[in-house]
Amino acid sequence: MTDEGHEAATSAEKEPAGRLNFIEQIIEEDLKTGRFGGRVHTRFPPEPNGYLHIGHAKSICLNFGLAQKYGGKCNLRFDDTNPSKEDVEYVEAIMEDVRWLGFDWEDRLYFASDYFERLYELAIRLIEKGKAYVCDLTADQIREYRGTLTEPGRPSPYRNRSVQENLDLFRRMRAGEFPDGSRTLRAKIDMASPNLNMRDPVMYRILHVPHHRTGNKWCIYPTYDWAHGQCDSFEEITHSICTLEFENHRPLYDWFLDELGIYHPQQIEFARLNLTYTVMSKRKLLELVRDGHVRGWDDPRMPTLRGLRRRGYTPEAIRRFCERIGVAKFNSTIDMVVLENSIREHLNQIAPRRMAVLRPLRVVLVDYPEGKVEYLEAQNNPEDPAAGTRRVPFSRYLWIEQDDFREDPPKNYFRLAPGAEVRLRYAYCIRCVDVIKDNQGRVVEIHCTHDPQTLHQNPPDGRRVKGIIHWVSAPHAISAEVRLYDHLFLKPDPDDVPAGQTYLANLNPNSLQVVPEAWLEPSLSEARVGDRFQFERLGYFCVDPDSSADRLVFNRTVTLRDTWAKIEKKQMA
Ligand code: ATP
Ligand code: MG
Repeated sequence: MTDEGHEAATSAEKEPAGRLNFIEQIIEEDLKTGRFGGRVHTRFPPEPNGYLHIGHAKSICLNFGLAQKYGGKCNLRFDDTNPSKEDVEYVEAIMEDVRWLGFDWEDRLYFASDYFERLYELAIRLIEKGKAYVCDLTADQIREYRGTLTEPGRPSPYRNRSVQENLDLFRRMRAGEFPDGSRTLRAKIDMASPNLNMRDPVMYRILHVPHHRTGNKWCIYPTYDWAHGQCDSFEEITHSICTLEFENHRPLYDWFLDELGIYHPQQIEFARLNLTYTVMSKRKLLELVRDGHVRGWDDPRMPTLRGLRRRGYTPEAIRRFCERIGVAKFNSTIDMVVLENSIREHLNQIAPRRMAVLRPLRVVLVDYPEGKVEYLEAQNNPEDPAAGTRRVPFSRYLWIEQDDFREDPPKNYFRLAPGAEVRLRYAYCIRCVDVIKDNQGRVVEIHCTHDPQTLHQNPPDGRRVKGIIHWVSAPHAISAEVRLYDHLFLKPDPDDVPAGQTYLANLNPNSLQVVPEAWLEPSLSEARVGDRFQFERLGYFCVDPDSSADRLVFNRTVTLRDTWAKIEKKQMA
C-alpha cells in the first residue's frame, strides 16, 4: 500500500493476521475447558421489520463466520415478537440477502413465534414460583413507577397478587378477555435495582393484532427481553452474540434462565458498526424510503444490502470489509472509505475494462479516411491475463470527455489542447489542429490529426506524449443512461444538526447525478443486469435493473481512486 490515504483510512485493517479477536478468545477458552461440550453454535436474530443493512452484514459475517471457523453451526432466527411492525415481505427479503452474502443456515430456520407456546409455559412457571405477576398499570404508569437512574422505582400496587390470581388473570389475558394495554405480565425482580432493566420488566403485553405467522392465535405477545434469551436457550446456542446496548440486559437474561433453571448460553456484546455519511437506524431508513428521499430500499445510495447490491457491491467485498473492521468492545465509526476500498479492490481483480464517455466532446480525425474502420486490440483486464483481449472499432469520428480538452490548459495539463498531442488508449497519438465553436463561443467539436506510426507504440522520433485518454468511436457507440452517486448525507455524522433540525437537514441534494446520454463502446451492448465493469479512468459501473432491451442504465459503484487522498490534499491546502 503506497497510497497514504488508504493507509490512514484502513488502520482498522492492521490487526495482525492470525491474532484472535476478543470473541474468538472467549470461544477458544470455552473449547479448551469443554464448557459447552466442545460445541460452537451461534445464531443471527433479525427482527423482520425492515431490510438488512451493512451493520447487519457485520453481525451475519461474525455469527456465520465463527460457526464456520470452529466447525459449528449458525441458525437463522427471526425475532418476530412484535406483529404490529413486522411483515412477511421482510422475512423473505432477509433470507434472500443472507444467502446473497454467501451464508447458509441449512435446515436451521427458526422463528421466535414458533416458541410462543413454550414461552407461555415458562411464564406460567415463573408465576407459580412467585416470580412474575399480572399488573394493571398502564404503560405510562409503569414508566412513572420505574424511577430513574438516580431514584429507585416504586412497587406496583399489583405486585403482591397471589399466585392463584396471577395464574387466573394471565390465562384470561391469553383468552382475549381484556383490551389492549389494560394489563401486562411482569417479572418480579427488584424495583430498587440500579439496573433499570431489573425493575420488574414487562414480559407480555396485550395486543389484539394478527401475527404474520400465528394469525389470530395470540393476543398477548412476549417482549423481546422475555423472548430472546429463552429462544437462545431452546436452540442450545452456545455464544449469543449481540450489540453493546444489550450489555445492561444481560443480568435480566441471566436472571430468567437461572430462575427457570434451563440451558444457559453465554451472551457476548460487541460494538455495532457505524459508518460515516450514512444512517443505520431502521427507523431512519424506513423514513427515507417512505417519504421519498430515496427511490426505495434498494436505492443504490442506501446502506442496505439491497442498495449496495444494486450499486454493484459484491458479497465478497462486503465480507472482506466486515473481516477488516474486526470486532471491538467500544463503539466507533468506520470511514466510508474503508467500505469503498473493499469493493474497489475486488472489482479491480474481476471487472473487465471497457471504454465509455460520460460527457462527450466530438473529435474529427481530419486525416483519417472517411468510412475506414479498424478493430484495435484492447486488454480486458491487466490484473487478470486470463481475461484476454477484445477488438474495439476505431474511425474518423470519436467521442472523448469534455474534461480531456482545455482551450487554455493550465501548467502540467497533459491532455488535449490546441496544438497539443495525446495518446488515445489502445490506438494512436493525435494532435489538436482546430477548435470548432458554436455561435455562443462554446467548443462543440475539435479537429485532430493522427500519427499512423504510433499504433500501440511510442512515436519513432522519440518525442514524448505524456497523456493517455479514453475514447469511443462515434458511429459505433451505443448510448446509455449513467447514474453517478455521492454520499447520501453531507456530513460524516448525519445527526450533527443544529437544535430543532433532524438528520434530514443533512441530506445531500446532489447524491444522485444522472447522465442521460453517455456513449459506450459497442461490446457493452451485450451487458446484462448486474454485470460489472471498469470504465477506464471513470470508475467501476454495473448494469441497473432499470435497463430495458433497447437502453442500458449503469450505476457507478465507486470511483477509481480513493477519494480520501483527495480529501487529504484539500485539508493540507
Ligand atoms: P431494531 O431497533 O429494530 O431492533 P436492529 O438494528 O437491532 O434494530 P435487528 O433486526 O434486531 O435490528 O438486528 C439483527 C441483528 O443484527 C442483531 O443481533 C443486532 O444486534 C445486529 N445488528 C443490527 N445493527 C447492527 C450494526 N449496526 N452493527 C452490527 N450489528 C448490528
Ligand atoms: Mg434489535
